Order: sequence, then C-alpha cells, then structure tokens
Amino acid sequence: NSEIRLSARPIGMPTMETFQFVDIDMPTPRDGQVVLKLLYLSVDPYMRGRMSDAKSYVAPFEVGKSFEGEAVAQVVESRHDRYAVGDIVFGRLPWRRYGLSDGHGIRKLDLSIAPMTAYLSVLGTTGLTAYFGLFDIGQPKPGETVVVSGAAGAVGMTVGQIAKLCGCRVVGIAGSDAKTEYLVQELGFDAAINYKTQNLHTALKEACPNGVDVYFDNVGGTVTDAVLLRINDDARIPVCGQIALYNLAKPEMGPRLLSQLVVHRALMKGFIVTDYQPRFPHAIRHLASWVRAGQLKYKETIVEGFENVPDAFLGLFRGENIGKQLVKVADP
Ligand code: NDP
Repeated sequence: NSEIRLSARPIGMPTMETFQFVDIDMPTPRDGQVVLKLLYLSVDPYMRGRMSDAKSYVAPFEVGKSFEGEAVAQVVESRHDRYAVGDIVFGRLPWRRYGLSDGHGIRKLDLSIAPMTAYLSVLGTTGLTAYFGLFDIGQPKPGETVVVSGAAGAVGMTVGQIAKLCGCRVVGIAGSDAKTEYLVQELGFDAAINYKTQNLHTALKEACPNGVDVYFDNVGGTVTDAVLLRINDDARIPVCGQIALYNLAKPEMGPRLLSQLVVHRALMKGFIVTDYQPRFPHAIRHLASWVRAGQLKYKETIVEGFENVPDAFLGLFRGENIGKQLVKVADP
C-alpha cells in the first residue's frame, strides 16, 4: 500500500519533489468501517492553492500528510451495514491506494445513470461549476455572445456547450490548435482562438463582431485583459478561476482595466461552486438529461497509474489535458 504526501510547500511552480510517495501498511477495518480501493482520482487546478498556507475557502494540505481530492473507489472489505464488498463509491479521499472509511463523506454511485468517471467530471464538480457560474452570474440570453477561457478544459468545454444550448454565439479561448479544432468541430463552438499563437486582440474582434456579453473566466492574466477590452454594456463576468496566476511567486499587477466595468456597467463576480450545494440535485438532473440526450458531451484525459499522479497534476499547468484530467489507479 502507498500514499502521496505533500513534502514541502512549493514556491512558484510545484515540481515532482513536491510529491512524496510513502509505503504504508494495508488497513484493517474495525466494526463500522470499510476498506476502499482507489480506482480513479481527480487532479484539479485548485489543489495548487491548497499547497500554500495562505488563507482561502478551503483548508491547506498539511506538509507530511497525504493529499486528498475527489475520487471513486471500490469497497473491498466491509464491516459496515450500508456498504457491501463491490460497491463503487464517490468521496473526497486521501491519495492512498487502500484506505479506511467509516462511511462518512462517501456515497454509493448509481452506475446505471453514467459511467463512474462521469461523477468526477460532467456530473460532478466540473459540471456544477459550469452550470452555476454560467446561469447564476452569466445569465446568458439567446443571441448573446459568450466567451470562455480555458475553453478546452473540463469546466470550459461544459460552459461553452451549455451556452450553445441557450442559443448563444460561443467563442472559446484555448492553448493549442488541436484544442481549438476540437471545440469548433466536435462541440459546435462558433469560433475558437489559440491564445498562444494568435493575436488575441484581432482574433477576438473578428470572432465577436457584436462584442462580448458574457465572459466566463477560468484563466485571468493577459487573456482576460484582452477580453475585457471587448465587453458590451451590461456584460456579466463570472470569475471561476485564474489558473494563469496560481504559480506566480508574487502577485502580478497587470494593466488596470476595471474602468471597462464602469464604462459598460458590467458585473464581475467570483464564485465557489460548493456554495450552491443545496441546489446540486436539481442541477445534476439537468446536466444528466443533456448528457443522455447527447446535447452535452464530455471528454476525459485519463492517465494510468498511481505513480503518475504528480505528472498528471503538473500537466494541468502545461495544458496537457483536453476535458477532465483524471488518473486511473486500478481496475475495479
Ligand atoms: P482544466 O481542465 O481547465 O485544466 C486546466 C487548463 O488550464 C489547462 O488544460 C490549460 O489549457 C489551461 N491553462 C493552464 N495554464 C494556463 C495559463 N497560464 N494561461 C491560460 N490557460 C492556462 O481545469 P478545470 O476545468 O478543472 O478548472 C478550470 C478553472 O476553473 C480553473 O481556474 C479552476 O481553478 C477553476 N475552478 C473553479 C471552481 C469554483 O468553484 N470557482 C471549481 C472548479 C474549478 P490550455 O491548453 O488552454 O492552456
């Protein structure tokens, strides 16, 4: 058995040395406990924030302790009335091949609705983040132009497709031609811009002839600077993430474009998906019905092997994933 621990708090970009693999004993369950075998785990950009001890909305990882995150696992031993050997469960679990649970914070998954990995992507935090950020803050209306950054990532590609379902013109910004082609050809985006090779200002002008009504921001930095210069009056800007800034050792003071918000009476609002918890069941029903109808596609980039978790995490910052980045730890 083994687990992955935070070896030290990184400054700037984390490295392989940030992650420490430690051999540990196989767990033995007591009454009321189960042994969980990790099958799939999710690596997420927000975990970079938890490697720091700066005050945030979620507690930092502790140095010398196991990382944890959303995962799917299988019950392989049970001394718990509600769980049987073979059950597939979802939970926020330590990065540990085999671990113990008393049933708190885990729930059984219904695999007749969707494959287990979907609960780590479109029917989980990813889908919910897209849903609430777009509907509650973005409030897209038919005919409006919605721009999404980080568009070929897990949240971004979901946002763009939902905005299309709302009758909007949708423009995605992503970091490779393979990604921009995928967005337009497979997911029906109206246009997509490669921020690494194209001039953002001219490309945005061309892709958004009627300006920008909703900007769903996953990345921040220079991409956001460029989009802010094209917003319309009464634009709405859900600030979901700022991945371009997560690894900066010092915050960057960029050009100050907030006067754009004044001039255009625009709304810019950050949000945290977990604040919408009471409304999750309703949103998941909505997302699941779109998935079943083939109107909402989801894509996963799955890296195999527990030993490759650090690389999969670091790959998020190199743009290696299309859709949700997952790690397959073991077969059921
Ligand atoms: P993604 O699947 O989008 O993975 C990250 C992607 O970000 C990469 O594939 C890469 O794509 C892009 N990226 C990496 N570095 C940069 C950079 N410097 N500049 C621009 N783009 C970059 O992850 P998620 O969908 O899970 O998350 C997307 C965003 O949403 C993140 O900012 C995350 O923190 C945030 N989030 C917020 C939540 C909330 O409650 N507010 C909940 C969940 C996520 P590319 O090739 O295009 O560069």
